[in-house]
Amino acid sequence: MKSNENSLPVPNNCGKMQDTYFPGSPGRDTTSQNFSQHIIDAGDTHSNNNGMFHMKHINEYETIPPKGQERIVDYLNTLGNNPPNVLLLEGGNAAQRFNMALYWAARLNCPNGMVPCMQCPTCTQIREGVFRDVELLDGRSEQILIEQVRKVRGLMGKQPYGEGWRVIILAEAQHMDAPAANVLLKSMEEPGAGNVFILLAPQRGALLPTLVSRSFTLTLSWTRQENPNPDLPEWEQALVTFLQKGQGWFVRTAKKDLVDVHLVRDIIIHCQTSLVQIMNRAPRTLLANNLNIQGSMARCGRMESILALGLKALNARVNPALVLDWTAVRLWKLVREKS
Ligand SMILES: [Zn+2]
Repeated sequence: MKSNENSLPVPNNCGKMQDTYFPGSPGRDTTSQNFSQHIIDAGDTHSNNNGMFHMKHINEYETIPPKGQERIVDYLNTLGNNPPNVLLLEGGNAAQRFNMALYWAARLNCPNGMVPCMQCPTCTQIREGVFRDVELLDGRSEQILIEQVRKVRGLMGKQPYGEGWRVIILAEAQHMDAPAANVLLKSMEEPGAGNVFILLAPQRGALLPTLVSRSFTLTLSWTRQENPNPDLPEWEQALVTFLQKGQGWFVRTAKKDLVDVHLVRDIIIHCQTSLVQIMNRAPRTLLANNLNIQGSMARCGRMESILALGLKALNARVNPALVLDWTAVRLWKLVREKS
């Protein structure tokens, strides 16, 4: 795909997923227009394009449903017969959680039976982020604000527009402050007919216990990557050295040929894996064993945000070496912060 490495993609810069999956999809102009009405993210007030590129580009590296999560897919297919009011998805990585949420929306709205076809107009619109009965509150890049939760609350008293369910996705719901969470809790207590929530978070412990206790929780597995990058251990060691001593990093990343989008993605996902191990107090990777943020949920939360932003920048075609340096420097600062 053509792109300018240093700039964000324009909204109609369609990704490979669309080319692959949308031979008969509705016209882009129509979908673009509708999109702005159904995304409620932090960029809502100033830029609809902002939200649009979120949805389109998050799918770049993960399929819907995500690979390696067949157990959860089967479970969701069955659960769709009697969907819980609030579903919480933890584990996996942020992109997998998000795509699994889209799959759940498809399961609850696809007219073609118990296993969503992912090809009909409904499934296509869900994948494209333009389906009218999917609402997104997006904590992947910004805090979820109380006004956004209130907007959704207003909708909840109403029936879905279509025959299926209205699915309200709270992506990376750990990025929601307490007032917003409290408004959300009230909505969950008085669910409108045909409305369901899905909360996404790296780990249930990152959410308010009152939210978790109302949720039906499923845990995505941490899958081994199919083709782990052979250079990953070396980069992990370099990152650990940099975080501890502040040395040796930029010499590596300056060798431009070494650093491509796949490598940076693997490194960031490895950091996410390590973070979850830290949060579960079960460090296994070298990084998890050497990252001095144990015992601080606040710092774990900030690390999660740094990594999510790194992936988002990568998906937005920012130069991979820049993303890697930016992520490493933010982590370097993080381990030196007082918790
Ligand atoms: Zn379908």
